[in-house]
Amino acid sequence: MNERFDELRINLRAVQEKIEKAASAAGREPDEITLIAVTKFFPLSDVRALYDLGIRNFGENRDEEGAQKAGELASDALWHFQGQIQGRKIPSLLEWADYIHSLDSLDHATKCERRLAEMGESRAFFIQINLEPERTDRGGITLSQLPEFISAVRELRHLQVSGLMTVPPVDADPARSFAQIAAAADLVGVEGLSMGMSGDFEAAICAGATHIRVGSSILGSRPTPA
Ligand SMILES: *Cc1c(COP(=O)(O)O)cnc(C)c1O
Repeated sequence: MNERFDELRINLRAVQEKIEKAASAAGREPDEITLIAVTKFFPLSDVRALYDLGIRNFGENRDEEGAQKAGELASDALWHFQGQIQGRKIPSLLEWADYIHSLDSLDHATKCERRLAEMGESRAFFIQINLEPERTDRGGITLSQLPEFISAVRELRHLQVSGLMTVPPVDADPARSFAQIAAAADLVGVEGLSMGMSGDFEAAICAGATHIRVGSSILGSRPTPA
């Protein structure tokens, strides 16, 4: 096998070992945690290599890129969209994304509902939480908006609320952010916790993460987007 394949194999193995350790330290089973390999900006050959290494969950941030890759891969691969949703991209997004991690607007939720009703399908969504409300350039609703938002989304029959997603503020202790999200999920009665990236997935597992989104620890530093 080629060098890149070996590199991915070694990186992936190291991440999986850390997942196992963190799970065991938290008294959890590693299979309670879905590892999403975030392949954004990396070529299809890397996605294929990870598939051959047993990965079935892939994360993408852009509609066109996700659609392209998903179209090339075997149908048992699952695609997670975690970028900011754009209203006009929703019909395309729903063609390839099995899970959407970044729901943060009722307008988008309603558009998804309409489209999914037409398709006769349903989809799993995570509601994105922004823990630094003063930063409006980031996706996500605030924790104070969550109860009202989630009851509105629960009215939409083709949207299943799987859980909450967050990217912790850079200057905060991630463990504290993850605990806040876990407590909020408990309060509103959702099970899924999409949290933890390359730098903090062990802390996220400790706080109960069910989905971790790991890019650079597996694939290396990201190429600049085309
Ligand atoms: C890019 C990205 C990731 C992966 O980040 P790494 O630090 O490379 O693991 C996870 N979540 C979101 C929302 C991202 O945009």
